[in-house]
Amino acid sequence: MEKTARTRFAPSPTGHMHFGSARTALYDYLLARQTGGQFILRIEDTDKKRTVEGAEEELYAGLRWLGLQWDEGPQVGGQYGPYRQTERKEIYLQHARRLVETGHAFYCFCTPETIKAEREKQIANKENTHYSGTCRNLSLTEADQRIAAGETFVIRFKTPLDGVTRVVDELRGEMVIDNRTLDDIILIKSDGFALYHLAAVVDDHLMEITHVFRGAEWLPTFPLHALIHRAFGWVEPKWIHLSVFLKPSGKGKMSKREAADLIQDGRSIFIKDLLELGYLPEAVNNWIALMGWSYDDHTEFFTLPDLVEKFSIQKLNPSPAAINFTKLDHFNGLHIRNLTVDDLAQRLKPFFEKAGYKVDIDVLRKITPIIQERLVTLDDAIPLAGFFFEEKVSPILDELIAKKLDAAGTLEIARKILAVLEAVPNLELDTVEPPLRTLVEKTGLKPGQVFGILRVAVTGLMVSPPLFESLAIIGREKVIERLKIAIALLEESNDR
Ligand code: GLU
Repeated sequence: MEKTARTRFAPSPTGHMHFGSARTALYDYLLARQTGGQFILRIEDTDKKRTVEGAEEELYAGLRWLGLQWDEGPQVGGQYGPYRQTERKEIYLQHARRLVETGHAFYCFCTPETIKAEREKQIANKENTHYSGTCRNLSLTEADQRIAAGETFVIRFKTPLDGVTRVVDELRGEMVIDNRTLDDIILIKSDGFALYHLAAVVDDHLMEITHVFRGAEWLPTFPLHALIHRAFGWVEPKWIHLSVFLKPSGKGKMSKREAADLIQDGRSIFIKDLLELGYLPEAVNNWIALMGWSYDDHTEFFTLPDLVEKFSIQKLNPSPAAINFTKLDHFNGLHIRNLTVDDLAQRLKPFFEKAGYKVDIDVLRKITPIIQERLVTLDDAIPLAGFFFEEKVSPILDELIAKKLDAAGTLEIARKILAVLEAVPNLELDTVEPPLRTLVEKTGLKPGQVFGILRVAVTGLMVSPPLFESLAIIGREKVIERLKIAIALLEESNDR
C-alpha cells in the first residue's frame, strides 16, 4: 500500500464539470481515503479570461453529489490555504523572484509584438516556435533598473539549453526529453499573475502533495514542471497522467460541439446533466472508475467503499478509453437495484415532482419495489409509473380493445371485470386475483386478453408494472372509476 497520500484535485473553473475531471477527483479521493491521507481541492483560477461564472459552484456541487468530499479547500479551509490561486499571487511572485536570483529564471522585457514577429519568422522557417533568448542573460541589476523605470516584464523559466531531462510517470515509466525541444515558458505574466506551470508546482510543494493525478494533456509540459521542482531543489510528487477519452466510436477525441449535442440523445458527459438525466452518483463513480482502471478481468460492480479498498495505481491503464454510455446505463441499473426501497423512493421523488406530480412518499414507497427492476435511469419511472399520481388516465381506444376481440367483445369483458371488482371488498392481491383468474377461465379467453383490458383502462399503458400490485396501490375507488371511463369509451365506439 502507498504511504499516507496527500492528493489534490486542481480544476480550473472554466466550464461545466465533466466526467473526466470527476474521474481525476475520484482517483485523488480514493488514494487519500485508502491511505488515511487528505484529499485537497484547489481552484486554479489564474486565467481570469477563461474563468466562467458559476463554474466553481458547479464543481462543489458535482463533487458533493458524487460523495467526494474534500478535506481541505474552499468552503472547508485547512492549514495550507488559501486554496484559490488568485488569492496566492504574492506567493508565486516571491517564488519566481527566488528562481531569478538563483539563475533559474529571468525577467523578460520583450514586447508582445517582438515575440509575435519572432514566432512568425520561426514558422516561416519551419522551425518549432520558441523564445529566442534575447533577455536570458540580462544581469539582475539591469533587470531591476528597467523594472524600477516602469518597463513591463514577464518572468520566464531558464530552460537548460542542452542535455536531457528524465522524468518518471508512474504509469508510463521513464521519459527522456531533449532539452533543446523545451521552451523558456512564462512563469509570471505581465499583469503579475502566475501561469499554471509555476502556480501548480509551487502549490503542490507548499501543500505537500504526494501524488499528482491529472489528464494526459499535461504530458508535453510535464518535463518543465519537473524542472521547476528541481530548480527549487524540491522533491517531486509522484506523477500519474491518466488515459485520455475517445468518442464512443473510438475514433478521436470528442469536440466541444459533439459533447454539447449529446444531450439530444439523453446522453451527456457533464456531471450536472447526468444527475438530471437520472443517473445515480454510485453508478457514475463505478463507470468512471473503470475508465482507465480495473481490479481484475471480471469484477465490475463497485461501490465507493469497495473502490477505496481496492483501488491501486499499479492497475491504472494509460491506454485511451472510448466513452461507453451503454455501460453507464448498465451500471445505473445495477446500482438502482442495489438501493433499499426507501432510499430509491426518496431519490425518485424529485423526478416525479419535476414532472408535475404531487407525490405522497408513502404511496411512492409502495410503487418503488414493483418498478425497481425495470429502471435504467430514475427518469424512466415517470412514463412507467406516473399514472399512479394522475387524477385520470386517458386510455386509447385501439389499445383498450383486446387482441382478437372487437369493441363489443371487449366491452362485454370489461363489464364483467367491473362486476368482479365491485363484488370484492378490497383490491388486495389475495382478494382480487383469484376471482379475476376465475373470470378468465369462464370466458375461455387468454389471461393476457382479459388483463390487458384492465391494464390499459387503469394505467393508460400497454406495458405497465405488475397489474395486481398496481391495482392495490391505486385503490378500489380509483380503479373502478377508471374502468368505468374505459367502459364508456367502448360503449361510445359501439354506438357509432
Ligand atoms: N488546472 C488544471 C486543469 O484544470 C489542472 C491540471 C493539474 O491537475 O495539474 O486542467
